[in-house]
Amino acid sequence: MSVSSFYPPQRTLMGPGPSDVHPKVLQALSRPVIGHLDPLFIGMMDEVRELLQYAFQTKNECTMAVSAPGSAGMEACFVNLVEPGDKVVVCINGVFGSRMAENVVRSGGQLVRVEDDWGQPVSPDKLEDALKAHPDAKMVAFVHAETSTGVLSDAQTLCSLAKQYDCLSIVDAVTSLGGVPLYVDDWGIDAIYSGTQKCLSCVPGISPVSFSDAAVAKIKSRKTPVQSWFLDQTLVMNYWSGNQKRSYHHTAPVNALYALHEALVQLQDEGLENAWQRHARQHQALRSGLEKLGISFIVDEGCRLPQLNAVAIPEGVDDAAVRSRLLNQYNLEIGAGLGAFAGKVWRIGLMGYAARDENTALCLRALEETLQ
Ligand SMILES: *Cc1c(COP(=O)(O)O)cnc(C)c1O
Repeated sequence: MSVSSFYPPQRTLMGPGPSDVHPKVLQALSRPVIGHLDPLFIGMMDEVRELLQYAFQTKNECTMAVSAPGSAGMEACFVNLVEPGDKVVVCINGVFGSRMAENVVRSGGQLVRVEDDWGQPVSPDKLEDALKAHPDAKMVAFVHAETSTGVLSDAQTLCSLAKQYDCLSIVDAVTSLGGVPLYVDDWGIDAIYSGTQKCLSCVPGISPVSFSDAAVAKIKSRKTPVQSWFLDQTLVMNYWSGNQKRSYHHTAPVNALYALHEALVQLQDEGLENAWQRHARQHQALRSGLEKLGISFIVDEGCRLPQLNAVAIPEGVDDAAVRSRLLNQYNLEIGAGLGAFAGKVWRIGLMGYAARDENTALCLRALEETLQ
């Protein structure tokens, strides 16, 4: 057998993730490996924590990066917080909410489902009804930015409802972090996870997480050990925290953390608010171009995600043929519809480094030429 080296093409990634990676992040990846307990690496991990606190707008001590993709961050939140028998309300308005529900069940929790139609935001009224009907609920979980449908939910209102009914909140911010306003402390979010491959302009495979003091207290008072040894935050925290006792838990993905560090430095230098505005601006430009092509959004204006534009595939257009032409002729990837939206919807991502004038222009030109 003789397999040669793999050289991927240079694509423009405007799907639901992974999104375009900042060139400086790619450079950071190829720097020399050093030991994961090397004092210089430990210093870098401390900086990653600080930068994540900025990105999440939190002072939470328990802020770190799980060494695995966003799905592992999701799992980390549920396996740590949910003890067998705990009642958890999960608001579901797309694919990722369903996955949260699955995590509750697998953690031995008692699941209460609150469902909204695909394409709609999570309804605070329905959540409140569920909390009234289940006064023994201990947690509320929902997705801030539902990537399967392009919908933004009102995390601030949902978290304050959770608090009002003595519940901890678990929030999926995989697609929202860096793309739309998110204030972990001000909104009273107790557990949050994100991903590197969406609006952070970083490579896939790492999941930033943060836990409030109340969430940490819940984890510390568990009667049973966390079922997952790898994701047990009480153990991982000793690896990530700045104290003297830092010791081996697992080998951090050294170069991937260089990449995350660089991506977060870029975010810091741009400024969080500026990054949010950049996503909003590119969304407006894409939107007016799409509307000129007669392509319409499937989500109401008030709850559209700027970083994930879910649009109706025009009548009579062959979904797969268009996407494959975009890929092959323009090196441009846009996303297909998921689940109920398969074949009906395109998901055009403007995430992180992909949210730039060049990309918006390329996407509009490529779609116009292809649809003709
Ligand atoms: C992408 C995504 C995930 C999963 O992240 P992976 O890095 O693919 O594991 C979870 N939730 C939402 C909302 C996402 O968009």
